[in-house]
Amino acid sequence: MSTIKSYNFSKLLFTLSLLFIFSCKPAKQLTQQNTDDGMIEFVFMQANDVYEITPLSGGKVGGLARVGTVRQQLLAENKNTLTVHAGDFINPSLLGTLKYEGKKIKGKHMVEVMNAVGFDLTTFGNHEFDIKEHELQERMNESDFDWTTCNTFQVCGDKNYPFYKEKNGRKEFASHTYTWEITDADGTNIKVGIFGVTLPVNQKDYVHYDDFYKSADLAIKELSKTTDVVIGLTHLRIDQDMELAKRQQSVPLFMGGHDHDNMLHQVGNVAIAKADANVKSVYIHRLVYNKKTKKCSLKSELKKIDDSIPDHPPVAKVVDKWSKILMSKISEIVENPNEVIYYSEVPLDGRESSIRHKQTNLGELCVKSFYLASKNVDAAIMNSGSVRLDDQITGNVTPIDIFRALPYGGKLVQVEMKGSLLKKLLDESESRQGNGAYLQRYKLKRDAYENWIIGNTMIDINKTYNIVMSAFMLSGYDYKYLTKDNSDIVKVHENPDGEDLRLPILQYLRNRK
Ligand SMILES: [Zn+2]
Repeated sequence: MSTIKSYNFSKLLFTLSLLFIFSCKPAKQLTQQNTDDGMIEFVFMQANDVYEITPLSGGKVGGLARVGTVRQQLLAENKNTLTVHAGDFINPSLLGTLKYEGKKIKGKHMVEVMNAVGFDLTTFGNHEFDIKEHELQERMNESDFDWTTCNTFQVCGDKNYPFYKEKNGRKEFASHTYTWEITDADGTNIKVGIFGVTLPVNQKDYVHYDDFYKSADLAIKELSKTTDVVIGLTHLRIDQDMELAKRQQSVPLFMGGHDHDNMLHQVGNVAIAKADANVKSVYIHRLVYNKKTKKCSLKSELKKIDDSIPDHPPVAKVVDKWSKILMSKISEIVENPNEVIYYSEVPLDGRESSIRHKQTNLGELCVKSFYLASKNVDAAIMNSGSVRLDDQITGNVTPIDIFRALPYGGKLVQVEMKGSLLKKLLDESESRQGNGAYLQRYKLKRDAYENWIIGNTMIDINKTYNIVMSAFMLSGYDYKYLTKDNSDIVKVHENPDGEDLRLPILQYLRNRK
């Protein structure tokens, strides 16, 4: 609470000082500047898909404290700067899985850091709905920034209502459409309309998703009546962005998310921009609107966020607070969480769009480590949902990166099971592509005739195999029948005193260095 209060207080001071500056302007200067030329320049700073508050790759790239500095520079250049987030920030993260002051963190750290950066506006990403309804409500209540969405609503009984945040006992609803009114030094004044849409992926019961094409169409029509220019804040897959752009040629810019690599596409009149995940870059869009011609020009600059940019101290303070909490928890398991243990030339792929559909190099690295760390096992498997990175790891790899990739940890367990059960599991895994249940495998592959091969031979349904996996997999969560009670499970070798399953991965990487 004290953070929010002091933030509001500083906001008030800022407003008061602005009033003071304006009231102190000499009258002559005002008249000279006060010839409306009908042109106004405004700026968006865009981030999307941010799960980490600190820099990555051994401190080289990313870091929200550096983003804070860029925002300050842009504001100094043009006060008409809006800092937006195109969704996905509350989940997943390593910190989010930990507890602080007796409560699960669940994105609280991210909202606190985003408040400190000074984000103005966001739309929902699909990951905002990963956490429970009451947790999202808490995060929204804690946020100082605005939320806009024209296609997602909160389900309440058989009705759908706008999401809201509660501040000092008052409900502030997420706007259906957002209006940003700006004036420049010579008095040119316009209203910029913004609509937000989210793709309906990993749908949650407490969220109602309207068709985003129809919702965007209605929102744009609505905004066109009341604003001068309409901009999109779109948390969609790029193919969906492109289809929407085709249909909405009056919108000059979509600031998008969900995809994690930077891109800038032009579909007719519409530019679609996405920055890199985890603020390895941000997009800076400079727009000039001409009130006479009603035309808008756009220059988009991809700004790399790296160690050449100093931290903005107020943001760094909040980031440090949370980093200390993280380090104290991680150092209970590994001695030096920031030690560089490996250098990865190729990106290690933990993106959900990859690892939940196919075997990736990161998935293989995990299961191979489990196999190598275990005695007398035939193969290793892991549910892809164990990997919560939704990003790639490149360059220097530290234990923190591996903990980020597998935030839940847990123990390994060896399960002696009948070939029939193993085959059933592998077959079902194939049909669960796109889901966290999809299995990463080591020493298990499918041949051209769709037979399952273990080691070098076909799985014999009557034989017993010893498979190493996380203890979580035996909970029956992803595969209901995969529990100790299954009659096709011959024996379970549990090791309650065994090490955290992330340690074999660290060991494997150290050996490969
Ligand atoms: Zn997303």
